[in-house]
Amino acid sequence: MIKAKKSLGQNFLIDQNVIDKIINLIDIKNKSILEVGPGTGNLTKNILKKKPKKILLVEKDSRFLELLNKDSNSIIKIINQDILKIDENELDDDILTVFGNLPYNISTEILCKWILNINDKKFWFNYLVLMFQKEVADRLLAKFNTKNYGRLSILTNWKLKVEKICDVKPSSFSPKPKVDSSILLFQPKSDFFFLKNGKNLEKLTRVFFMHRRKMLKKPYKILFHDNFEIANKLRIDLNLRPQNLNFEVYYNLAKEYENLRS
Ligand code: SAM
Repeated sequence: MIKAKKSLGQNFLIDQNVIDKIINLIDIKNKSILEVGPGTGNLTKNILKKKPKKILLVEKDSRFLELLNKDSNSIIKIINQDILKIDENELDDDILTVFGNLPYNISTEILCKWILNINDKKFWFNYLVLMFQKEVADRLLAKFNTKNYGRLSILTNWKLKVEKICDVKPSSFSPKPKVDSSILLFQPKSDFFFLKNGKNLEKLTRVFFMHRRKMLKKPYKILFHDNFEIANKLRIDLNLRPQNLNFEVYYNLAKEYENLRS
């Protein structure tokens, strides 16, 4: 038996009810699939039962390759690489449906990279069905004026619709993680707010949420100095706190920040 590596976030799904929930969410018959981190193939086997057209498996740990190759199924393509080092836009010509019981240590890094790399309005995926640590999922789903609202929800909601499917208990995995998990479903927003470079939104939210209990005046001045016209134009009260500005205000602020820099 292959011993799970903590450093690669290896908590394998063993609960058939949870696996069924994941694979029954979307009709994937004849569709092209990407699975991130198939590991021992628990989810993969069940995806295959749904008769997809093909399935790309990206797995960093080469100890699983033999196991995943076992049935030498011609619709499976195994890519033994780090998902963070792959250009997802070049993965396949087909639009992909993505599944991933993600390694928790890099789950937000994967999602943020994908969001920032979406080419203009061309999405390389139609659905993302991903498992996160519950605490991270709560931050991805958070709305403004709540304590979990911040960089992650602002970046996610910029290009994606996101909904929670269910929470998952540690006992559904082996080895058991210390925390609860959640399955989230993401879909592309075709009409997302135009920004020249998403890195500006990342920087803006990083600076604004550096001190979430402090008033907006300070971070605003770091980025916009004494240019208060922008705050007036966007009707921002600088005595408020970062979590009091809604998504649209942040996207508009990022655009203004971009304009100042270009
Ligand atoms: N899909 C399996 C399941 O649900 O039972 C395994 C999920 S386990 C939480 C995460 C998987 O991602 C492991 O197989 C791990 O080796 C793999 N992994 C970790 N880091 C990775 C990376 N950077 N790129 C690709 N796969 C990675």
